[in-house]
Amino acid sequence: MAKFKQPKQYRYGRGVQECRRCGSRDAVIQAYGVYLCRQCFREIAATLGFRKYS
Ligand SMILES: [Zn+2]
Repeated sequence: MAKFKQPKQYRYGRGVQECRRCGSRDAVIQAYGVYLCRQCFREIAATLGFRKYS
């Protein structure tokens, strides 16, 4: 996914938000106001009522 150069002045977007659960900044999901990284989101999603649409 590192296709583009690292943005300098971008304060918004990926890599800014930290996971409020584990502190990781890797792919933090801001949608739904969860602010969780992918891993934590997967774990918590079920609790929040999110389901994987299959
Ligand atoms: Zn996390």
